[in-house]
Amino acid sequence: MPHDAAAACRLFVPGPLENGILLAPGRDQSHYLLNVLRLDDGAALLVFDGVGGEWRATLERTGKREARLRMVGMARPQPAARAVTLAFAPLKHARLDYMVQKATEMGATRLVPVLTARTQVARVNEVRMRANVIEACEQCGVLQVPLVIPPCTLVDWLRQRPPTEALIFADEDAPAGDPMQVLTGLKAAPTLALLIGPEGGFSPDERATILAQPLVRRISLGPRILRADTAAVAALALVQAATDT
Ligand code: SAH
Repeated sequence: MPHDAAAACRLFVPGPLENGILLAPGRDQSHYLLNVLRLDDGAALLVFDGVGGEWRATLERTGKREARLRMVGMARPQPAARAVTLAFAPLKHARLDYMVQKATEMGATRLVPVLTARTQVARVNEVRMRANVIEACEQCGVLQVPLVIPPCTLVDWLRQRPPTEALIFADEDAPAGDPMQVLTGLKAAPTLALLIGPEGGFSPDERATILAQPLVRRISLGPRILRADTAAVAALALVQAATDT
């Protein structure tokens, strides 16, 4: 494989990452490197662990199916990231996969499935969510690997939020208004949380509870009602543009 294409290969490998150390990728990753990408001994690739930045590494074949990775220098330091939580009513498989991948690409640092009155999904596959997070990080060069938080009820999630966290409430019933104006006012907030409801929307009681939260900011995403996964991407785009997060 040509050097530059191999170098484009990015792999998430639990650290710690230090110069000169050797890491043993998992069986599936070794299979991917040796038999799918068919990388040669000495091939260059990039490795990250979500904490210690991105490292240049070289592949060392140790067997027909085994390989190890030697760290040969840091490529990019770990970015300092402001905590941006995406709290969302879980969706069915394909839409949830999409939402998790896009939220990862757009800088979410925590993903929290919140169960609301009209959530149509009973169980959330956290392993599948984490796999989508890693895949999005590897494919898009994201170093901040979002945490997947176990599902909880909307009320429990609201109750445990830090008191200084700004809550951005994407409300399909919000009056028309300029979301950017609302969001730029949050540049100084230490942490941000964005809440997206289920396909069935928020119930009146939920809306009242959310609007009673400290530091809540209600935003409209425009005159059309968006699908929940679309709304998450649209809202995250506004958040990162307005708060430079
Ligand atoms: N079925 C509901 C809409 C739910 S859309 C209805 O017809 O009223 C799913 C979620 O996406 C909403 O709960 C909200 O969080 C977000 N959303 C969709 N469209 C939006 C809009 N125009 N403004 C703000 N949030 C929106």
